[in-house]
Formats: sequence, C-alpha cells, structure tokens
Amino acid sequence: MNVRDRIQQLKEEKGAVVLAHNYCLDEVQEIADFVGDSLGLAIKASEVTEPIIIFCGVTFMAESAKILNPEKKVIMPEADAVCPMANMCSPSQLEEAKKATPSAKVVGYVNTSAAAKAKMDICCTSANAVKVIESLKGEEVIFVPDQNLGAYVAGKTGVTIRLWEGFCPTHQAFTLQMVEDMRAEFPSAVVMAHPECRPEVLEMADMVGSTSQMLDYAADSKAKEFIVLTERGLLYRLRRDSPLKKFHVPDVAVCPPMKMTDTRSVLKALENEGPELLLDDEVIEAARRPLERMISLR
Ligand code: SF4
Repeated sequence: MNVRDRIQQLKEEKGAVVLAHNYCLDEVQEIADFVGDSLGLAIKASEVTEPIIIFCGVTFMAESAKILNPEKKVIMPEADAVCPMANMCSPSQLEEAKKATPSAKVVGYVNTSAAAKAKMDICCTSANAVKVIESLKGEEVIFVPDQNLGAYVAGKTGVTIRLWEGFCPTHQAFTLQMVEDMRAEFPSAVVMAHPECRPEVLEMADMVGSTSQMLDYAADSKAKEFIVLTERGLLYRLRRDSPLKKFHVPDVAVCPPMKMTDTRSVLKALENEGPELLLDDEVIEAARRPLERMISLR
C-alpha cells in the first residue's frame, strides 16, 4: 500500500483529521482534510469533532489548535518546525512592554507562542488585523511581533500603534529591487503581496492580503498573470483553483520550517500517535481568551 493510501486508512481507523497550512509541501496539501491560512485553520481547529488533529505547519498553529480544542489530541509530525518570527516576542519582553505602557491594548499576531498569547488582549491574523484594530475603537495599541503588518494596519486604520521589532525572514527577503525586476520581466502581471512584506514592497503592490484573500482575488480577477509575494507553497492552490492563469514567485520565497513536514512524517505521526503537542492548562486558559475574542469578530 502506498504512503497516501496508508495515511487515508489510518485516518479512518483512528479518527484523525489532517489540517495543513497553505505554505506546506504540495504532497501534504494533497492528503490534508483542510488547507487554509492561520485564521481558517484556527476556526477549523475549534470545530473539529474527531479525537485526533494532525497539524502540518509550525508550532504556533498547532498550539492554537490545542488551545481552541483542548480535549483533542494534537499531533505535530515535525515538532521542531518553529516560526522564527514567533520567537521574536517572548512573554517576559511582552510583560515589560505592558508595564511601560499600561494603558495600551496588546494586539498579537497569531504568529506567537501560546505563552505570549496568554499575555495579550486580542489576537489577529493577516486576514483580519484591520478589523481587530478597528474593534478597539481608537485605543492605544502595542502590536506584536510583526512590524510590517503592524505598520500596514496603522496606515489603513489611522490608529497610533507601537510597533515591535519582529519580522518574517521569508517575506523580509523580498526587496523592492527584486519586485521591480519581476515587474519588468512580467509587465502585465498583477502584484499580490502579503502584509508581512516590507512597507516599500506593499506600496507598489496592486493588492495586499492574506493567502486566502490572494486565492479569492486571483480566482475573481480578470487578469491572467500574477506576481505572488508570499511563500511558494501557495502556488499549489493558486494553480489548482485558477489553472488557466500564470503565477510567479521570487526564488527566495521559501519558509524552511513549513517545508519540514512531508507525507512520510504524517504517516509516522499517525502510526505512532505522536509527537503530541502538550500545553499547561493555565496557558491554555489564558491564551484562549485573545484567540476566541478574535474569532468572535468573524
Ligand atoms: S512564512 Fe514567515 S511568518 Fe510564516 S511561518 Fe514562515 S517564517 Fe513564520
């Protein structure tokens, strides 16, 4: 029996659902029961009824699944797949920032650890960050950890936002020169950029949005060609959903931790029912509030 068939068999036998991020390898997206962006995955994780969640992505996403559905056994096939940006905001640093500006609300991108989320007022994703900031009705905001997303949202809402010094190494690698060169090579292409990109890159984009928003935009657009400024894993769904359109990503558009999980590691995780992701009950309790507050804004 091949790996794919064996995964299917074990999923049914054990009552497991496979969730995968849009940046995962094509072979993982193919065997997943649900593929989405961070917001879609968080919502889906909260609704899973099967006893086991196999989470293909990076640790903060699997943690969110556990926080939102703590009765489930959450398994990460590659437990060391950590988002570097999530490590740029520790709970103690956040505590310091809160002490320095006690009146400010802490809005945290979901790309943070569970322990950091436990200290936030509300979470956001790239898909709903503007809506989250607007829901605070002009209150002062500390935005962690992505400075590019924070600056983008500040510009969109006019709210005063204290930025953190975090960034995504993958999106930060897209330079203005790189995008100008791609535009020269593909002059009729529409430029779609993820808000984790540098401000000067976002300024020249025709559309700024999360991965799911890019999928919708490309499918609805009359344009036939796109420059896609996000991780190359999104190409799988872009090409599947819009097979007659052309998509180009920069060569450097790779997030190494997102590529750690493959179908063999998913199969191994199903066979061993591990490694299981575990969190302290207190952290789950405290981190659930900002996540649920975000989801309630849907
Ligand atoms: S693409 Fe960037 S933000 Fe997303 S998981 Fe990779 S390093 Fe983290």
